[in-house]
Amino acid sequence: MKLQKPKGTQDLLPQDTLKWQYVEDVARKTFANYRYAEIRTPMFEHYEVISRSVGDTTDIVTKEMYDFYDKGDRHITLRPEGTAPVVRSYVENKLFAPEVQKPVKLYYMGSMFRYERPQAGRLREFHQIGVECFGSSNPATDVETIAMAYQLFDNLGIKDVTLHLNSLGNTQSRLAYRQALIDYLTPLRDSLSKDSQRRLEENPLRVLDSKEKEDKAAVEHAPSILDYLDEESQAHFDAVRDMLETLDIPYVIDTNMVRGLDYYNHTIFEFMATVGGSELTICAGGRYDGLVEYFNGPATPGFGFGLGIERLLLVLEKQGATLPSCEPLDAYIAVLGDEVNSAALQLVQALRQQGFSAERDYLGRKLKAQFKAADSFNAKTVITLGSSELESQQVSVKNNHTREEVKVSLEAIKTDFENILKQLNF
Ligand code: ATP
Ligand code: MG
Repeated sequence: MKLQKPKGTQDLLPQDTLKWQYVEDVARKTFANYRYAEIRTPMFEHYEVISRSVGDTTDIVTKEMYDFYDKGDRHITLRPEGTAPVVRSYVENKLFAPEVQKPVKLYYMGSMFRYERPQAGRLREFHQIGVECFGSSNPATDVETIAMAYQLFDNLGIKDVTLHLNSLGNTQSRLAYRQALIDYLTPLRDSLSKDSQRRLEENPLRVLDSKEKEDKAAVEHAPSILDYLDEESQAHFDAVRDMLETLDIPYVIDTNMVRGLDYYNHTIFEFMATVGGSELTICAGGRYDGLVEYFNGPATPGFGFGLGIERLLLVLEKQGATLPSCEPLDAYIAVLGDEVNSAALQLVQALRQQGFSAERDYLGRKLKAQFKAADSFNAKTVITLGSSELESQQVSVKNNHTREEVKVSLEAIKTDFENILKQLNF
């Protein structure tokens, strides 16, 4: 019997979720300033939504899908990425309609599932924050979206991120390049990995994306796609580069970067961060002008990125960024004796109803243990409640940092704790 979590998954405990919520909050605020709104799509989709759009020959589809037949014999897959589902939803919900303001800017946060070999920063259930922008082919959209990711890293305090940039051009450019790549790789066929020998037939650009040593060596001197861009593709790429420079966003051109998904054209990019000497991709995306049409919507350009939350946090922690820990508690009620149990409950509830965070002892512990608890909750104030306090209806409220105390009526705590906090210099 397996009573442990499945391989490649993680439990997020309260000390973790605080950090996650922080990252999510910063992302929500950053995206809101760019007029992005949240979309939530199902965790699973029809297999076909993913397979052909992401690409029948990609690793994601050929090796990493969590797919199954449900009880109604439908071929279902847990989503391995966010873009195809969002495009599916965009078309299904007719967000292309003229009454919806363009461009349509959507973001999502949630679990993605890929059957991979688990290692640091590579899980089977992982989480992405992603954005998609529909309806603008303006290169300013490419740059704005890249700039938004860049600003998010800055807002989170991530250092040393490098933007890697490439262009896949339009369909014509890509076809021309494809042939050049076949011509280059065919004589090297025997030195390629088994997978890449297959890729060479099916989808030669995928060889550039291989992580196998022999493939990396083989493509080192491969022709550059940038030499095959036609006029339109070149103009788009030049405009993107110009505007990145205008915004002072540094980048490096990486002509061997093709991304692990088939739907991209024109601009593609990755943000890489250095952790412990090695480079890790934390965010990746690009332009996908054909995807809405593929889902039977009207021709609509698209641009987006996906960012791995686990990898982002890995980088933040390795870089020693200060992440929020436990939120302080406004008041802790030390409870002296069973006879004040109900009064303590009333008091703690009265505090919470005024909007303060409050906790009490439930376990009849010695005062010393209760004060320790107050410290570990980082309580601002401690209120000790025993039968004599109940009788006199007077309690002392202690500033748990300075030990300063004020004597007040129970009524005052129940109706105006704000004022008591002020008296104690909070
Ligand atoms: P890689 O080349 O590392 O496999 P990818 O090209 O498959 O990445 P994308 O599909 O572009 O990755 O996903 C975008 C981001 O999601 C990645 O940059 C990474 O931060 C994160 N990511 C992808 N796969 C995983 C995974 N298995 N576990 C954790 N994070 C992941
Ligand atoms: Mg991958």
